[in-house]
Amino acid sequence: MATNTKIIATIGPACDNKETLQQMVDAGVGTFRVNMSHGDSSAKKRLFDLVKSIELSDGNCPAIIADLCGPKIRVTRVPEGFSINDGDTLSISNDEGSGDITVTSGISFSNLKLDTKILINDGRIQLSVSNISSANLIDCEVLVGGEIELGKGVNFPGVTLDVPAMTEQDDLDLRLALDKGADWIALSFVRSADDIINVHNIMDECNKRLPVMAKIEKWEALDDLQNITEAFDGIMVARGDLGVEIPSGKVPAAQKEIIELAGVNGKPVVIATQLLESMVENHTPTRAEVSDIANAIFDGVDCLMVTGETAMGNYPVEVIKTLQQVILETEGSSDISKNPLPEVITKTADAISHAVCQIAEDLEVKVIMSMTHSGSTARMISRYRPNSSIYALTPFNHIIRQLQLVWGVRPIRVDNYDNVEKIPALCNDIIKEINVLQPGEQFVITGGVPMGIAGTTNYLSIQVHN
Ligand code: PGA
Ligand code: MN
Repeated sequence: MATNTKIIATIGPACDNKETLQQMVDAGVGTFRVNMSHGDSSAKKRLFDLVKSIELSDGNCPAIIADLCGPKIRVTRVPEGFSINDGDTLSISNDEGSGDITVTSGISFSNLKLDTKILINDGRIQLSVSNISSANLIDCEVLVGGEIELGKGVNFPGVTLDVPAMTEQDDLDLRLALDKGADWIALSFVRSADDIINVHNIMDECNKRLPVMAKIEKWEALDDLQNITEAFDGIMVARGDLGVEIPSGKVPAAQKEIIELAGVNGKPVVIATQLLESMVENHTPTRAEVSDIANAIFDGVDCLMVTGETAMGNYPVEVIKTLQQVILETEGSSDISKNPLPEVITKTADAISHAVCQIAEDLEVKVIMSMTHSGSTARMISRYRPNSSIYALTPFNHIIRQLQLVWGVRPIRVDNYDNVEKIPALCNDIIKEINVLQPGEQFVITGGVPMGIAGTTNYLSIQVHN
């Protein structure tokens, strides 16, 4: 049975072979995340080729979201086996050489204050600034000690850091992703709506615009959510880092707010990290994990994204089977929440897409056909979470892949259509082919006329299948 909530799986050593990826697709994955934080360029290219080599029943391949590392601050130098104890003093530098450990170059410590908290390795190690020697060197008191490992993330909750939105490495990674056929780009550690400008500039240099997803995992982003949601094409609640940047108890409320805001704006929203963390080690999930997933589905999330569970866990395929089973049970058990209407409807696309869903509900129509060249019409319909099935008819394989992230949308490839008059017959033929209606049953068609201009959802027609 087709489900509405979509699945993204992160590729890593635990699944980076064709057989396992194929099994994950068969179990429900529509999109793979290539995490650009790891590996050299040839290792990254190999992952793109691997996903592209998987053939789906419609001849297409799974979608790829390339996740740019962004200005993540990491430990870049630490002595082998380096451990610190509570009460110790630790010096941190941002330049090679001085200090007990070094973090990512390019960050200045000038905005830190005495007693500022610094967290390492997802908050497992906690420090407090005790002396600011210069913009390049600080001393910290160790509040909670442990082993510090190379490459672990370093968070400065509440501190404004003067780091760029994209690093030189991100620039290279973005060009690689565009060249290798990514379908979506995700940008980590987004702080403001303007962060998308850098991504667009490089895309324009490469003559290729892809949809860009903002990963919400910095405290600053929560203050600019409305603008970020409008500027970006999708939103991810990246709970791993977000739960360190803000107290983890604040993450569930932030998650709900982000899901609602994305829904109102018709932008796909992804919930990520620790969905099935215990399945890194175990064959079955905890009750709490299942409940967390189900609640995200009830709230109307578009996608669930697993990270370490499939990248380096013991049971990558079982993780997907578990997700799919929870999705099936949850979607079958109760209505998911509907997104509210925009307060003022001024755009034709908003009015038409809402009317389509209202008509479908009033007439109890089982099928909505959305004719889309850019994917926009299908997204506009999806955000109202109708009970009818949404089919997206598009001539483009890359749009089919981009729609893998959108709630409820079932993309189907059709020959390019250039004439409005031909649309009803085309839809009727597809419905016959996929056998989803009996003759005499009604269906609704929507789309944009003239064809091929994004954001022009202005066509609505009620037809009878024959
Ligand atoms: P990451 O993003 O896996 O790239 O860190 C997800 C998160 O922070 O939750
Ligand atoms: Mn993160």
